[in-house]
Amino acid sequence: MVALDGPSGTGKTTVARKLADRLGAGYLDTGAMYRLVTLAVLRAGTDPADTDAVGHLAHDVHFSIGTSPERPEVRLGEEDVAADIRGPEVTQAVSAVSAVPQVRELLVARQRRIIADVLAATGGIVVEGRDIGTVVAPESPLKVYLTASADVRAARRSGQDSAAGRETSVAAARESVERRDRLDSTRTASPLRAAEDAVPVDTSELSIDQVIVALAELACR
Ligand code: C5P
Repeated sequence: MVALDGPSGTGKTTVARKLADRLGAGYLDTGAMYRLVTLAVLRAGTDPADTDAVGHLAHDVHFSIGTSPERPEVRLGEEDVAADIRGPEVTQAVSAVSAVPQVRELLVARQRRIIADVLAATGGIVVEGRDIGTVVAPESPLKVYLTASADVRAARRSGQDSAAGRETSVAAARESVERRDRLDSTRTASPLRAAEDAVPVDTSELSIDQVIVALAELACR
């Protein structure tokens, strides 16, 4: 198992999927799970800042998440919401929802079950998130903490939005990633931080392929 943590815009998702593909392992995007609950909160008209209401609602959200690195499915009920969970409304609200302890408790338990199932079936999984090495799977034999400069992260996020048909200036992307990282790293419940034994990898000056090669080497040691 590889635990891949780090702030927004460090290339985690691309790296995690490609690495899983290369290793013939499964893949789990835990951020997508927090985004799914956030989408359900917004669709229900619940205020993301209303901790009790969000905690309550989270128990009734039925979703499924795929573990194939080629095309991980994301469904709310039966509906394919892979695009919806990346929209600006969800991105804006997800840090508030993911700071709610009941939400984390539910999702961490579900993540651990998925990890156990995939490990039993395929023998390997790459899991990306913010608290994988510290909370979800501290026993993971390889923990990596990806970082990148704020400029690089903003440029990457702006590029990803543009590829998804949403125009976001680099300045707006920078504000958005910095806001989310501030909220994610200062919350009380499982704040974003590197596990003490995580290998730090600064991706600012590296291509995706260079990062994959470096991580695949670490994974095969
Ligand atoms: O990785 P992604 O940007 O999709 O994550 C969305 C949000 O979900 C993060 O900003 C964070 O608030 C939350 N998250 C979390 N713990 C994780 C993964 C994501 O709190 N393991």
